[in-house]
Amino acid sequence: MLFDFQTHTFLSDGVLSPIELLRRCHVSGYTAMAITDHASPANVQSLVESLARDCREAEAAWGMVTLAGVEITHVPPAAIDRVARMASEAGAEFIAVHGETIAEPVAAGTNRAALESDYVHALVHPGLLSPELGHVARENGKYIELSARRGHSLTNGHVANVCREAGAKLLVNSDAHEPGDLLTEALARRVARGAGLDADETETVLVDNPLELLARLGRTITEGAGA
Ligand SMILES: [Zn+2]
Repeated sequence: MLFDFQTHTFLSDGVLSPIELLRRCHVSGYTAMAITDHASPANVQSLVESLARDCREAEAAWGMVTLAGVEITHVPPAAIDRVARMASEAGAEFIAVHGETIAEPVAAGTNRAALESDYVHALVHPGLLSPELGHVARENGKYIELSARRGHSLTNGHVANVCREAGAKLLVNSDAHEPGDLLTEALARRVARGAGLDADETETVLVDNPLELLARLGRTITEGAGA
């Protein structure tokens, strides 16, 4: 089984159309995925509505669970909860926040705002996540990302340690912007092991956590999903 909860299309800064991304993910053996284009007040409503149309087409045709989502990106921390609510009201099925990666000047306070919003499901590439916020993630049931993307992935080992100590749950995502960025099961496993997870922890992160997240979102894996 292969899961990916962060991907991008040309509706933000990816290169593929939504339906081509979905097609390529299906052919690559994905079981379930989210499209999470960069969102702010400017585009959140139209983005979610557009993504949902192609997600429904792909799901009907190919049986892969597809979530129309957003990655709330570079929105000021004080506005994150409000924009996440806008996304939810627009029909977003998965809401991530672009965390405090060391690769970009993300505003301090973004990680906390994401973890404290009732509308947010996941904090992606959180950079130097503090131990205190690791506990907030666990208490609030938020998922934290180990990133396959260069730059963002520099702090994966730190993030894995903080989340292990706190009992917070991890996901491995591609953060794909082009076809060559998509995950394979082998790559996802190497990202998890490279962050310092042992074999059992890796299976939890690659299989158990995604299945639990999907169940919380009211989605189940259909027979024959994947390639
Ligand atoms: Zn991001």
